[in-house]
Amino acid sequence: MLKRESIKLDGVLNYDLPMEQIVTRLSRPRTCAVARPCSRDDSSPRVQGVCDHCGGKLVQREDDRPEAVRLRMEVYEKSTKPLADYYRQRGCF
Ligand SMILES: [Zn+2]
Repeated sequence: MLKRESIKLDGVLNYDLPMEQIVTRLSRPRTCAVARPCSRDDSSPRVQGVCDHCGGKLVQREDDRPEAVRLRMEVYEKSTKPLADYYRQRGCF
């Protein structure tokens, strides 16, 4: 659980975006049920619920649901962000 959280956070786009926008983007169903790696981009599928690449059905992963995304964002705000700010202020990024 903990390990997966950190991996997911690495992939979380841009924290300057408003919270609701982030939640919307991250909670979009986009995991291909046929071949998972082919659906991890940010663009919307041409046909709702269908993978552009292989025509497979797009499913929503358990941890991509809005509630789960929101929870990850809260964890980030509390734990990772203060640390990131600390280093940013010292010109480390
Ligand atoms: Zn696919």
